[in-house]
Amino acid sequence: MKAKDIAELLDEPACEHNKKEKSGCAKPKPGSTAGGCAFDGAQIALLPIADVAHIVHGPIACAGSSWDNRGTRSSGPDLYRIGMTTDLTEQDVVMGRAEKRLYHSIKQAIEDYQPPAVFVYNTCVPALIGDDIDAVCKAAQEKWNVPVVPIDAAGFYGTKNLGNRIAGDAMVRYVIGTRDKDPVPKSAEREGIKVHDINLIGEYNIAGEFWHVLPLFDELGIRVLCTLSGDARFREVQTMHQAEANMMVCSKAMLNVARKMEERYKIPWFEGSFYGITDTSHALREVARLIGDDDLTRRTEALIEREEKRVRAALEPWRERLNGKRVLLYTGGVKSWSVISALQDLGMKVVATGTKKSTEEDKARIRELMGDDVKMLDEGNPKVLLDTVAEYKADILIAGGRNMYTALKAKIPFLDINQEREFGYAGYQGMLELVRQLTLTLESPVWAAVRRPAPWATTAGELLTVNG
Ligand code: SF4
Repeated sequence: MKAKDIAELLDEPACEHNKKEKSGCAKPKPGSTAGGCAFDGAQIALLPIADVAHIVHGPIACAGSSWDNRGTRSSGPDLYRIGMTTDLTEQDVVMGRAEKRLYHSIKQAIEDYQPPAVFVYNTCVPALIGDDIDAVCKAAQEKWNVPVVPIDAAGFYGTKNLGNRIAGDAMVRYVIGTRDKDPVPKSAEREGIKVHDINLIGEYNIAGEFWHVLPLFDELGIRVLCTLSGDARFREVQTMHQAEANMMVCSKAMLNVARKMEERYKIPWFEGSFYGITDTSHALREVARLIGDDDLTRRTEALIEREEKRVRAALEPWRERLNGKRVLLYTGGVKSWSVISALQDLGMKVVATGTKKSTEEDKARIRELMGDDVKMLDEGNPKVLLDTVAEYKADILIAGGRNMYTALKAKIPFLDINQEREFGYAGYQGMLELVRQLTLTLESPVWAAVRRPAPWATTAGELLTVNG
């Protein structure tokens, strides 16, 4: 990838900070590769496309350290779960046969699995030795008549976030717009209801959470042409250009896809979230507003009223147990505000939130939701987190999996909110799961048990007193 292309992706015009002043995205600081390289970001963004053969062109560790690190689910094919790599060795580099290995890997993937497409991810080593993966992909595509898409996202190009954008850019360049959408199936047609098509960008179906939301769209007669990329199929990505509206779900990572689709295909878009009752209702309303069908708007309002009533009634017995509980939320980017809204719906108080990966816009949203007295944590090392829990008397830490042992060793209740989590919290139904998991965590008898002094410590203390 040329330096000019990388600079262009970093200067995404749809990002708030680039609208105000053309500052571009933050440059990585030493040590920030711990957060994932560009290749990792690209693979995370596209791996959930379930029927594609994803080949990592590089040494085996690139594939090994990034494979399947998101609990994304598929309702059908599971080819995405097979880790494929060219497994380059020193010999391949010295003998100059890396491109050949790639060509044969593509052949093997196509012959063994007959995928509708192959994605080839570039990594540092082949990028450094100058492999022309575009040319190899083109030759393989012509030979086997299967789309072979190069994703040129070598790790040293930049951060994980840049990798997400490179992945989105590859979809816009090579895949979106290459096929017409399917006609509306007879089963989806209902009398007097016009079916509308939308896309969701940045929804990854973690722990299958989008399946809480999809039935609502079905009921409204809204067909989700494609979710980029949770539970997606290659043929769905090809038709994204024929949607009436795009929703960016909880993520700025693929903003470039929404913007380019607006420029090229005139598809309007908005940014929303499915975490919490308020945000879910807002997202449904925005979809209806962008489509601009009065009948749809009316039916959407009726559905929101019914669902809010239902879920609030179902939450009532739990609310008492969570009301007033104090939360330290440490998660990245957009989730820093979208999850706050979900917790406030439950009557919980967020006393501090992490803003390390948040933009100025995210921070403004946090202030809007919580006022100025919320503590924003730009740094989240274990000491800062534990000090904040103590200072603000937090009852629970809600954060990503890597903070789990920090919390558990300090005997603090912990809930995993990031991509590795095992429970889906999206939509109205997801709120019920969130409330259940929060209560189970907070009320677990283990906290009282581990906080009690060990019996031998007490006995020893008593013995000392007696003997003393
Ligand atoms: S692509 Fe580069 S930085 Fe990323 S895992 Fe591979 S070698 Fe490491």
